[in-house]
Amino acid sequence: MKDTARSSGFFYVKTRLGWFVMFPNAPLFVCTTCFALTSLGLGMQSCLCEENKSYPGVDCPGGLILCYMCATSKAGGTSRWSWNACESCLRFNRYLERTYRFTLPLGRHSIMNSISVPLNADQEVQDKAIVSMLQFINTSGSLSDWGKLKAHTLFEEVHSWRHLEHVPLETWQAKFQLSKVKATSRSAQAFKDYLRINDFQELVR
Ligand SMILES: [Zn+2]
Ligand SMILES: [Zn+2]
Repeated sequence: MKDTARSSGFFYVKTRLGWFVMFPNAPLFVCTTCFALTSLGLGMQSCLCEENKSYPGVDCPGGLILCYMCATSKAGGTSRWSWNACESCLRFNRYLERTYRFTLPLGRHSIMNSISVPLNADQEVQDKAIVSMLQFINTSGSLSDWGKLKAHTLFEEVHSWRHLEHVPLETWQAKFQLSKVKATSRSAQAFKDYLRINDFQELVR
């Protein structure tokens, strides 16, 4: 048997603990302790309260997340080339780049945010690149924290969920679903809140 053997709707994955049956389409839940997503043991996706296993050939087995900016819908993926924000927030990030030459590093891999350390460049260029890389790592951490905080706030707004340990992702997304235009305003507000600005003009000052 290979490391992953597909068979009608589920497959086996070999880990250091043995073979596991995985359901790639297992429903996902928002854990209301750590605000990460979990498949409650049916798939690779696990939250921070659960044991994190590694799977051969999978970059980020627990890589599905709630959008780092608005926390209202699923983002990320099992690849290191995933985006940590939803479609609406990514669209807004691109708008900021076009209009204000400013973006938040919402790509999981530094290269996606045009950050890399050119090994053949001279010392000065390399030093600058290393500073950008460290800034990227810091900002990624703060964006992740921000997303968790946002998810926590949204969760507390829904009183009927108060006693739930896990909210089905489908229910979560349906609760906060908005039309495209309103979702764009929500993304804009999330960026303003994260950046602590009242107007995007402040980015160019
Ligand atoms: Zn958890
Ligand atoms: Zn979003």
